[in-house]
Amino acid sequence: MSTPYESWTTGEPLVDTKAPDGPIAERWKRRRFEMKLVNPANRRKHTVIVVGTGLAGGSAGATLAEAGYRVVQFCYQDSPRRAHSVAAQGGINAAKNYRNDGDSVQRLFYDTVKGGDFRSRESNVHRLAEVSVEIIDQCVAQGVPFAREYGGLLDTRSFGGVQVSRTFYARGQTGQQLLLGAYQALSRQIAAGTVEMHPRTEMLDLLVIDGRARGIVARDLLTGRIDTYFADAVVLATGGYGNAFYLSTNAKNSNATAVWRAHRRGAHFANPCFTQIHPTCIPRSGDHQSKLTLMSESLRNDGRIWVPKKAGDHRPPQDIPEDERDYYLERLYPSFGNLVPRDIASRAAKNVCDEGRGVGPGGQGVYLDFADALARMGRAAVEEKYGNLFEMYARITAEDPYERPMRIYPAIHYTMGGLWVDYDLQTTVPGLFAIGEANFSDHGANRLGASALMQGLADGYFVLPATLGDYLARHPHTDTPTADHPAVHEAVSAVTERLYALLSNQGDRTPDSFHRELGELLWDECGMSRTEAGLRKALERVPQLRAEFWERVRVPGSGETLNQSLEKANRVADHLELAELMCLDALHRTESCGGHFREESRTEQGEAARKDEEFSYVAAWEFTGTGRPPVLHREHLDFAHVHPTQRSYT
Ligand SMILES: Cc1cc2nc3c(=O)[nH]c(=O)nc-3n(C[C@H](O)[C@H](O)[C@H](O)COP(=O)(O)OP(=O)(O)OC[C@H]3O[C@@H](n4cnc5c(N)ncnc54)[C@H](O)[C@@H]3O)c2cc1C
Repeated sequence: MSTPYESWTTGEPLVDTKAPDGPIAERWKRRRFEMKLVNPANRRKHTVIVVGTGLAGGSAGATLAEAGYRVVQFCYQDSPRRAHSVAAQGGINAAKNYRNDGDSVQRLFYDTVKGGDFRSRESNVHRLAEVSVEIIDQCVAQGVPFAREYGGLLDTRSFGGVQVSRTFYARGQTGQQLLLGAYQALSRQIAAGTVEMHPRTEMLDLLVIDGRARGIVARDLLTGRIDTYFADAVVLATGGYGNAFYLSTNAKNSNATAVWRAHRRGAHFANPCFTQIHPTCIPRSGDHQSKLTLMSESLRNDGRIWVPKKAGDHRPPQDIPEDERDYYLERLYPSFGNLVPRDIASRAAKNVCDEGRGVGPGGQGVYLDFADALARMGRAAVEEKYGNLFEMYARITAEDPYERPMRIYPAIHYTMGGLWVDYDLQTTVPGLFAIGEANFSDHGANRLGASALMQGLADGYFVLPATLGDYLARHPHTDTPTADHPAVHEAVSAVTERLYALLSNQGDRTPDSFHRELGELLWDECGMSRTEAGLRKALERVPQLRAEFWERVRVPGSGETLNQSLEKANRVADHLELAELMCLDALHRTESCGGHFREESRTEQGEAARKDEEFSYVAAWEFTGTGRPPVLHREHLDFAHVHPTQRSYT
């Protein structure tokens, strides 16, 4: 079988020139000291575009405006506080060591590098661990109502892949509470006139002028009006691309358009195949489902995961005696038990289901059982800790989790891949920064639970405000681009023509039908486990599907009013391009690591086998045209502080 991508080309290696060397604990301090500063009185002369108002964008916009910059900010929701971050449930990590259980910045650093299966940048991860401590102080000062223990200190719980309790939480609504904190701070700046907020406005292209990011092309989703916005720098905080898979735990509107358009304009895309499958989601219930629901990982603190020992045992859970149950995570990984990292828990669930021991419709589920916790803690305590999650489960499945174990199954949840950024969070397009889930982040090949919120807020509140200042101080712009610049003209025409092409196509298929087909293909071939044959099959099919999309898609309505079908079609078109890069990246990485499990690369015990000699690098892909072989740039990863070993959680 052959694909148009039989060979991609290899470009110059990427070197992150911004990360200082020297002792790792001193690097961020040193970098900050070496940065040029913008005088407070000069900051108001600089305009910064921030696309996105989730935890990363909301915190960045508020902080930059508070520092004195003029911020122009965008989101496609009707309010900044409806960004997808609002859905985060379980918590946020920080190395506060309130529990005195052995935690430290060093341990959080170590856990994150190891949890990411040795595919992240040490300098970044160490900085993340350092900054984690400040995030909690910042959020408490804003009034975020974190849970507290009896003595009044903030309470914590454990998440997967760690043996300390460092996850701060606000019941099962941590994302919502943190986002309200960031939104409050942003609202203050909107009221003060330092942030110009554009809700219901979608960025559709990046303006690169004389080699620098100088603005965006955006569409007002209510009127269809296309406008250009100019700035001295552009920040993308546009979230992850998990919805390429159609079914995921992400908000329905989350999409890849902003990062993909930036990629097309020169920003390299790093590790696109590193997607995270979360082990505890409510199983899919039928073919017409359009969304999957997460049951927070925090439930694994007290819930026990099991399946029947015998294949094909369809008895109700309460009729299966204790000695006929297999608490497989506790059996296989006694030191971490139900709290092994997500990639490991997900694969283990798939394995027991593949053995015919799965439960529920189609055998695609495992039990998450609270019977022991209820007996030990009592219903009131369980309700206090997890009440809203139990209620959500009951509403969706019509089963009472206090009476009967929950059924869970892995699902697409997060993307570790994203735009390549240097230590300063700058992409390969000068003046274009990417923060939060939109960048390829600090999580390597597998993100540990409760560390996305930590990274988004570290980027937005602390890292970007410092590094962006350095960029602006070194690259002051004396001009403001205008609409008659050829690059602006070209970008606006491209956006307008594409929307016209979608609206005028007299096809017979909905954008959703293409998205669903693409999602199924990605899940089957580039999902929980991947093979060379499957990936080649997908690489053959995706371009065909893309061609079919442009021939057969039908978008009703006009471009001058709210038209969700048009929005959707435009996003699906980008998913159809990104999907190809995801599969190619997965094909080229013939090792298994973290969330990327290549069936051909496993240990004798069936665990993922990394190939450090060959693949200790970030794969950063350069765009050369739709359907054309991209260029692979490798950023070599050094592990001087956490030595790569075969990850063991036994
Ligand atoms: C159900 C669920 C639960 C989770 N729970 C946790 C948890 O407990 N702990 C944890 O650490 N992580 C958790 N995560 C992960 C975490 O929530 C996300 O990684 C994080 O919130 C992403 O934040 P962000 O600011 O990068 O992006 P988002 O919150 O996704 O925000 C993206 C923003 O960009 C805007 N945008 C995107 N594209 C465009 C465009 N083209 N034009 C204009 N605006 C655009 C959107 O309008 C939005 O404002 C969870 C994820 C899910 C799905």
